[in-house]
Amino acid sequence: MVDLFPEQTLLWQAVEKIARDQFHLAGIKEIRTPLLEITDLFNRGIGEETDVVGKEMYTFIDRGERSCTLRPEGTASVVRAVLQKGLLSQGPQRLWYGGPMFRYERPQAGRQRQFHQLGVECIGVGDFRSDAEIIGVAWMLLHDLGIEDLVLEINTLGSSEDRKNYQQKLVKWLETRQDQMDEDSRRRLTTNPLRILDSKSSAMKDLLQNAPTLIESICEESTVRFENVKNMLEALEIPFKVNPNLVRGLDYYTHTAFEITSDQLGAQATVCGGGRYDGLIQQLGGPPTPAIGWAIGMERLILVIEAAAKANPNSKAAQFASTSNPDIYLINQGELGKKIALILAMKLRAEGLCVELDNSGSSFSKQFKRANRSNAPFAIVLGDDEVNKGEGRLKTLLKNSKESSQSHTDKLFSLDDYSNLVRIVRTTDLTKV
Ligand code: ATP
Ligand code: MG
Repeated sequence: MVDLFPEQTLLWQAVEKIARDQFHLAGIKEIRTPLLEITDLFNRGIGEETDVVGKEMYTFIDRGERSCTLRPEGTASVVRAVLQKGLLSQGPQRLWYGGPMFRYERPQAGRQRQFHQLGVECIGVGDFRSDAEIIGVAWMLLHDLGIEDLVLEINTLGSSEDRKNYQQKLVKWLETRQDQMDEDSRRRLTTNPLRILDSKSSAMKDLLQNAPTLIESICEESTVRFENVKNMLEALEIPFKVNPNLVRGLDYYTHTAFEITSDQLGAQATVCGGGRYDGLIQQLGGPPTPAIGWAIGMERLILVIEAAAKANPNSKAAQFASTSNPDIYLINQGELGKKIALILAMKLRAEGLCVELDNSGSSFSKQFKRANRSNAPFAIVLGDDEVNKGEGRLKTLLKNSKESSQSHTDKLFSLDDYSNLVRIVRTTDLTKV
């Protein structure tokens, strides 16, 4: 579990803002659910044989002797909340969520025990076009963040009937080849056979080349549906690759499953994963209701943005990675100077200017150095001398100058009327300074 410091949170906030704007444009509204749920929700929702439920959950007994779990993902909670409030009677729900998730995994780059997801759930729509739309929301968001070189892979898992039939076929085929399988896959043969398809070992990958595929086992209707989704993605000009071995880790998926990956991330390549989960709502006690959703891993997304920014300093991603600067750095000294500086800072902030007030009490030259480091275009200097004359001093800080004495302009302003000051700071075109 990691801390995020200001150098990181600025980038996180920029990403979150763009995401919120994209969700707004797509008519997707935010839902916030508790971090803690009754364990049974995930047992029923995600499936007891999955890695998440079987090995990764933070589960404990609370003081009321209930088994509780820190949420390992968002979908089950969103469905629970929607059912509990009876929202489905108002028609389809288009919702997004964001926040920490908890999984007891082996930590490594892009894999943490507390991590953050940003997710979308579209509940109550089964039309194939909504698959393309919801994938499109993720695609546009990643595009808006200035990330290129992403690959969208899609597959169909067919209906839950198709899945069952295929699972039988696959198990039968693998059972006669157990000597060629790794231990993990042999165990999954009885617990969660479809997950074998997702095996990362190259020997298993080779073996699976000749295994029966899902796509040739699904019924006509499911095949047609998948064709429709692909055609719709093409019409939206969203490039994709069909990956017949793509299965998702959670048990509730049916029909369309997809992942968006980046080769910047090494082994933890998946930035976004999602799919259709038409069986989940009923599984959690609701009426039969189709649904589709996805989740982006924020930590991995940030890693991709940072890599993109490094690779191209002029990229959009590089802009997000740069910090946001204050408008004014307020340098101050002396009893009176410090007092008036705080009052002025509050007044200028009320005018909407971003003012960084130096609280150090250190020498003017030290404060000037910090002012330059802050990247503020302006500094205001308030010492007792200035304040006694009812004045303050506005200085333009030269970009990249290390020496305080190189300040370009030096303008006195009246402390009684700083409207002129506000105007200058707001309107100065720094490219001409
Ligand atoms: P993986 O195969 O990488 O374990 P998953 O199938 O378990 O992923 P999902 O449950 O679909 O992942 O979660 C969606 C996204 O959340 C993933 O694509 C990934 O970006 C992110 N994610 C999942 N687990 C973690 C983790 N432990 N640390 C950081 N990000 C994670
Ligand atoms: Mg996982």
